[in-house]
Amino acid sequence: MLKTRITELFGIKHPVIQGGMQWVGYAELVSAVSNAGALGILTALTQPTPEDLTKEIERTREMTDQPFGVNLTILPTITPPPYEEYAQAIVGAGVKIVETAGRSPAPFMELFKAYDVKVIHKCTSVRHALKAQSVGVSAITIDGFECAGHPGEDDIPSLVLLPQAAEALEVPVAGCGGFSDAKSLVAALALGGEAIVMGTRFMATKEAGIHQNVKDLMTEADERSTNLMFRTMHNTARVFKNSISDKVVEIESSGTAKFEDVKDLVAGQRGRVVFEEGDMEHGIWSAGISVARVKDIPTCDEMVSRLVSDAEDIIDGRLQKVKA
Ligand code: NAD
Repeated sequence: MLKTRITELFGIKHPVIQGGMQWVGYAELVSAVSNAGALGILTALTQPTPEDLTKEIERTREMTDQPFGVNLTILPTITPPPYEEYAQAIVGAGVKIVETAGRSPAPFMELFKAYDVKVIHKCTSVRHALKAQSVGVSAITIDGFECAGHPGEDDIPSLVLLPQAAEALEVPVAGCGGFSDAKSLVAALALGGEAIVMGTRFMATKEAGIHQNVKDLMTEADERSTNLMFRTMHNTARVFKNSISDKVVEIESSGTAKFEDVKDLVAGQRGRVVFEEGDMEHGIWSAGISVARVKDIPTCDEMVSRLVSDAEDIIDGRLQKVKA
């Protein structure tokens, strides 16, 4: 057993969290993660309306009696969603754990506090983490440069960012970005982290509701299989390297590209087709550098059990032997 402030805070068995993932965080995956003793997290904006989110929360409850959370991401979108209504749906459904991301959770804290919701805020810098702590979040996920999706603009990998955050904050900190296996879990604990947040690794599981082609391609990837796009628009996103993300990077390299020039290529609705139909060149889809470490497609239970027991073996075995 690995016991940390985060396992205590959320009432979970293992210090492992499945981060919010657009078009991936559905009830089947989330309940499988929570049933495995980790923390599953639904993605609010994957549901077309707040009413659909309420139904998805109910569906998750039918499949697990373990704690799970909901992610609410506030970033630039082609069609801005009604964030306030999604937040109301979350509290209305009695969810007690929310992962916020993208922007300060301050505007939502009063509502979440009123409903006893524990907020874990995901951010990419120590300064934003301190701000979130000051408005009352219960925990922080610090996103290193390795992460999938939006790693921010500071380019600080987890090896430096996680200990910086853990030392600066009083609330517990989870490491995100580059974490995928027992070795990286032990590293996160050594760096001052109280849990790891994984997205990419959970995509390559049996219960993730994405096309088999995506999972198979992930097992063939290496550490050079991602692209960074939107660098020139200060909305950097790490996505899987394919012909579409290569094209976006090429358009941006002119130095004068505007979002309108790449909008049709990057639309999340196109990325969704990749996940649903397995056409790997249809759109962009998020993946972290840790995709290099995905070697198989287990069930969530197999993956989490192996992760934790191998981590215990590293702590009891290799690390003890290193000590002179
Ligand atoms: P979408 O189809 O609205 O937009 C596609 C991409 O373009 C997103 O990355 C978005 O951030 C970006 N974008 C949109 N408008 C922009 C603008 N004016 N300037 C610069 N970039 C712009 O988004 P979606 O795929 O349906 O996703 C919905 C939400 O979930 C977005 O906020 C997106 O950023 C977020 N998301 C987050 C992650 C993550 O890893 N944190 C991954 C995927 C999506």
